[in-house]
Amino acid sequence: MLSKLRKVFCWDPHIFLRCPVCGGPKGREPLCERCLELLKIIDGGYCPLCGRIYHGTQDVFLCGDCLVRPREWDWFGFFGAYKGVLRDMIMDFKYRGDFSVLGCLQRLLYLAYLKHSVDWVPDLVIPVPIHQNRLKTRGFNQALEIGILLSRRIKKTIKKDVLIRIRDTRPQVGLTGHMRKQNVRHAFSVLSELHGEKVLLIDDVYTTGATIFECVKELKKTGAGSIGVLVVARSQQSIFI
Ligand SMILES: [Zn+2]
Ligand SMILES: [Zn+2]
Repeated sequence: MLSKLRKVFCWDPHIFLRCPVCGGPKGREPLCERCLELLKIIDGGYCPLCGRIYHGTQDVFLCGDCLVRPREWDWFGFFGAYKGVLRDMIMDFKYRGDFSVLGCLQRLLYLAYLKHSVDWVPDLVIPVPIHQNRLKTRGFNQALEIGILLSRRIKKTIKKDVLIRIRDTRPQVGLTGHMRKQNVRHAFSVLSELHGEKVLLIDDVYTTGATIFECVKELKKTGAGSIGVLVVARSQQSIFI
């Protein structure tokens, strides 16, 4: 009886917290049960090199783009499609500075690494950089923050000064594929010479791949070895098979 009462009256600060995504009540987990339920790692039906998601099949095979234009990176990993709860969390964090969802995003990136890296361990973890001006207004680089847990777990420090953004480009949101390419052309530079190191490049969202493509091009030019690309979410128009 006493333990029952204790259960009812014992004050647990987590019980009264709200889920940062939907505002509903939540327990000790970073999100409420309903939102956690909606977060399932992708389990098939995508392109292994760019994450393009297919509808109507669970098979994993190269998309037309990746067949025509070979990618310079060796593997690609992501947690899920950029929609619903995942999209809400990334938007809340990136554009509204809501750090209450950061722990969850970090875990999702780490889970994506475990699923897709298949024993591939990097020498360097490098976040897609943002320009100094953006850093001043936003206050943080989302790719760097999201990668912290992963870097701790695999015991590799995140190098934020290897790859830098030298041009203050306009945001990619709302631009077409071609405009995105133009927008980020020559926007990055690698500061230290590389000698065949394996590089894990991390970001929050992959859309057309224009940003990742430019970063990888610079890393390869400066001597990077094999490159893995890891993001939390893949944004796209779905392909119906
Ligand atoms: Zn929720
Ligand atoms: Zn592809």
